Amino acid sequence: MKVKCPKCKEKFDIDKNSHDEGDSVECPECGASSIIAVKKGNFHLEPEESKYDKYEEEFLGDEDYEA
Ligand SMILES: [Zn+2]
Repeated sequence: MKVKCPKCKEKFDIDKNSHDEGDSVECPECGASSIIAVKKGNFHLEPEESKYDKYEEEFLGDEDYEA
């Protein structure tokens, strides 16, 4: 199934039989990791890094800036 990379907008194929909602896939063009979401029966990629950004901010807030 064709999906679009949320980062570089490249379209690429992912195998519907070996991937499912919530899986992480890597864009062959830019290498960005994306999470598969399913909308109306179609695969749709969402950027993975937005989650990591939040975790990182919380982590840094506790560890680095309090001392
Ligand atoms: Zn990409």
